[in-house]
Amino acid sequence: MIRLGLIGFPLGHSLSRRLHERALEVLGMEGRYDLWEVPPLPEGREALFSRLEALREGRVAGINVTIPHKESILPYVDHLTPTAQAIGAVNTLWFDSQAAQLVGENTDSPGFWADVQKLLPEEWEGENRQALILGAGGGARAAAHALLTHGWLVSVAARRISQAEEISRHLGDSRGEVKPCLLSEDILPELETCRLIVNATPVGMVPDIKNSPWPHSWEFPKEAVVYDLVYNPARTCFMQQAEAQGLKARNGLGMLVEQAALAFQCWTDREPPRGEMFKAIR
Ligand code: NAP
Repeated sequence: MIRLGLIGFPLGHSLSRRLHERALEVLGMEGRYDLWEVPPLPEGREALFSRLEALREGRVAGINVTIPHKESILPYVDHLTPTAQAIGAVNTLWFDSQAAQLVGENTDSPGFWADVQKLLPEEWEGENRQALILGAGGGARAAAHALLTHGWLVSVAARRISQAEEISRHLGDSRGEVKPCLLSEDILPELETCRLIVNATPVGMVPDIKNSPWPHSWEFPKEAVVYDLVYNPARTCFMQQAEAQGLKARNGLGMLVEQAALAFQCWTDREPPRGEMFKAIR
């Protein structure tokens, strides 16, 4: 019996249980995936510690971490993988009994990269590619890390410039530069050469489905493609705006499945049934 679960707050709309329990079922593994609501710290400290203890004692094999704990959990993790270290956030935990260490990983970045590639034409490979990310929270960090790692130039546009500057300071090292900017008309002149625009804000997510982070008066760059981390609704207002100008657009459902699949692989060492996981939440 393998026990897995998610800590975060609130968790009412999480699709993680469906994804992971479908994976267990397809692979014929007996187990369950629970949703453990842990309020923000310091209020949730005791609940958080009790989940981490269960992991250390082997009563739980793996834990996913979501808002608001992806960063606040860092001091309680013994070892961060290079990806988690670079991003400064963790979404997957397990206990390495040989090293006696609680390990923190971040599968959002490779999850984003695996899915966004389905949108990128092959002929762009090796070109000097420039991306613009809207928003500067956890999702933006993961997307920026993935793009930098694969040789893209990245601009992060936030409504609070300090937040974009923080990403730039944290990620803009040997991997390349992150240009911080204000989400305003000032970014328009630079857009011409931009190939990928990523929405990493929650704008457009149910029930806010009529809104977009992209003002209606702005034109998209002609050769760009558009990725929305939001997946509910399946076709967001941001995606519709891009499609109306003839651009290809993709929602974040594939990223959600991929980050879950990669976490599942870390915990079980089994090949996750991605297709069946996708069907379980589509
Ligand atoms: P987050 O850490 O809270 O960051 C959200 C960012 O969006 C912040 O920079 C925030 O700025 C900005 N923002 C919020 N409302 C805005 C508005 N009206 N106009 C401009 N900027 C705004 O959240 P997150 O974890 O990055 O998640 C962002 C979205 O991506 C959510 O919808 C989430 O569900 C989705 N997501 C999807 C996946 C996936 O697997 N597909 C993975 C991660 C996230 P302020 O701080 O100023 O509010």
